[in-house]
Amino acid sequence: MTFEGLGIDARLIQATDELGYVNPTAIQEQAIPVLLSGTQDFIGLAQTGTGKTAAFGLPLLHIIDAAAKYPQALVVCPTRELCMQIVKEIELFKKYMTGISVVAVYGGASIGLQIRDLKRGVQIVVATPGRLIDLIERKAINLEQIKYVVLDEADEMLNMGFQDDIEFILKNTPKRESTWLFSATMPAEIRKVSKKYMKDPKEVTVGKVNTANKSIDHQYYVTTAQHRYETLKRIIDFNPGIYGIIFTRTKLDAQEISERLTREGYDIDALHGDLTQGQRDKVMGQFRDKTLQLLIATDVAARGIDVQGITHVINFELPDDVEIYTHRSGRTGRAGLQGICISIVHQKEMYKFKQIERINNSQFHKMDIPTGKDVCRKQFFAFMEKLLSADISHGDYETYVPMLAEKFAEVSKEDVLKRVAAMEFDRFLKYYENAEDLNARERDRSTREPRGQEMGRRREERSSEGGRGDSRAEYSRGGGSGYSRLFVNLGTKDGFFKASFLQFVLDMSDLKKEVLGKIDMKDMNSWIEIEKGAAQQMIRSLDGKNYKGRRIRMNDADSGGPGGFSGSGNGSRRPRRGEG
Ligand code: AMP
Repeated sequence: MTFEGLGIDARLIQATDELGYVNPTAIQEQAIPVLLSGTQDFIGLAQTGTGKTAAFGLPLLHIIDAAAKYPQALVVCPTRELCMQIVKEIELFKKYMTGISVVAVYGGASIGLQIRDLKRGVQIVVATPGRLIDLIERKAINLEQIKYVVLDEADEMLNMGFQDDIEFILKNTPKRESTWLFSATMPAEIRKVSKKYMKDPKEVTVGKVNTANKSIDHQYYVTTAQHRYETLKRIIDFNPGIYGIIFTRTKLDAQEISERLTREGYDIDALHGDLTQGQRDKVMGQFRDKTLQLLIATDVAARGIDVQGITHVINFELPDDVEIYTHRSGRTGRAGLQGICISIVHQKEMYKFKQIERINNSQFHKMDIPTGKDVCRKQFFAFMEKLLSADISHGDYETYVPMLAEKFAEVSKEDVLKRVAAMEFDRFLKYYENAEDLNARERDRSTREPRGQEMGRRREERSSEGGRGDSRAEYSRGGGSGYSRLFVNLGTKDGFFKASFLQFVLDMSDLKKEVLGKIDMKDMNSWIEIEKGAAQQMIRSLDGKNYKGRRIRMNDADSGGPGGFSGSGNGSRRPRRGEG
């Protein structure tokens, strides 16, 4: 079989020729003729490496109307990397076609630039679910005219918790003429989605459907050492129904993280060697009957525990030993259930991680750490489900209905819903409003940050090796300019925005705005550039003073002073989760 025989445009054949494609691959042979019709739903069970990108990319380019300058095709895929890769390939395929443009939209990059790209009249949008919904909400993208939706690596998207988002996207493409779903495996959830949103899909399988280790999906998140704890929290928040075990290397870590998370409203307790048998039994009892959602433990302490229905195992830190990794991950995915084993790693641990991956003989999936928005949306979906499934069969609610009706007579149903949502979510939304991107991105680091900062950050990672949440000042500028860089343990979590923060430090120090340079605000702390001559006055005026009952610490970030942030003590400002 040749590409000509498949019926695709000569200009596409010219491009694939140049790429060295001689014959279509199996999935291309079976998918392309079907997809060219544009109206047939399709399921392709194929793994990466089978040529599936061309299998949907070529027919898409063939059937897109180049003269119509609005989005006609939407490709949804799980990660930013895949998103970029798909766009790159489509760009190559369309080399000899004019008038068709394709854009990638994904989290962790400037949404402004993506919005600008979208406005240029693109026909094909390749997106990750979170960012796409963000754009829909901002009305920056119009899905009205979308005819073709491609779900690439659908099983991955579901594993990553994007089921609701995908359904949302499918519901919001009213003129969809066909849906093309590609997946390496066919779990029940995908069947459900396809039953609900696809019509008589033609199903094609190439090779054998992934079966190796299919009960456990191995995922990993790459972050910096100082963001390990925040990343853990975000993963937990992104999985509202999680019932999991978190593993740490040391007893102290288990204890500290457990205490910190408890303070912040999570249902968690620690299992460690210092507990008496009685205490241990109590913790285990609570975990078994699901009063505790999360258990944090060292390998030694978790030895021998056997609990059914664990949804997630999280490696807060990687174990040294592959065997231990296997043992940890084996706590989930039992008795025919699907489980997820997540590892939080930072770049310097990648070599160790690759070893584990190799020896474990299964492909591990790199995940983007969800953005604050992703988390909020996820929690919102979960909340709606909770509201809808609330059990009202037992209480004597009927008695109160007349009173309720009277009290709420003037309030619309919509307003009532808004208020209920606000009660549950306001603080949550605020917490995540300015949430930073926790992904460690090698490429961004080398292109965006001045050299001094990058090295400073490396230094910082080393200093907090071992995964302790608290860390030194984030990076230093290395002097040289007329400015000093001051560290202060106040940030957006203290309720500051840049302007109010600026006003606050100037008021406190009685200095003029002109002495300040760049202000870099993070959740828990900030860095202020200030003229060298004014630096000491500012430090004297702020360091050691109180703000809302907390001691302010300020010092010169370049002078190598302690400069850490007060990790604990900030925690209580996070909203409580769940019922609490
Ligand atoms: P994919 O499964 O889409 O990630 O593709 C895997 C690799 O195979 C990519 O590098 C493609 O460029 C390449 N490829 C796709 N189709 C063909 C083909 N028909 N002949 C040769 N290489 C191909």
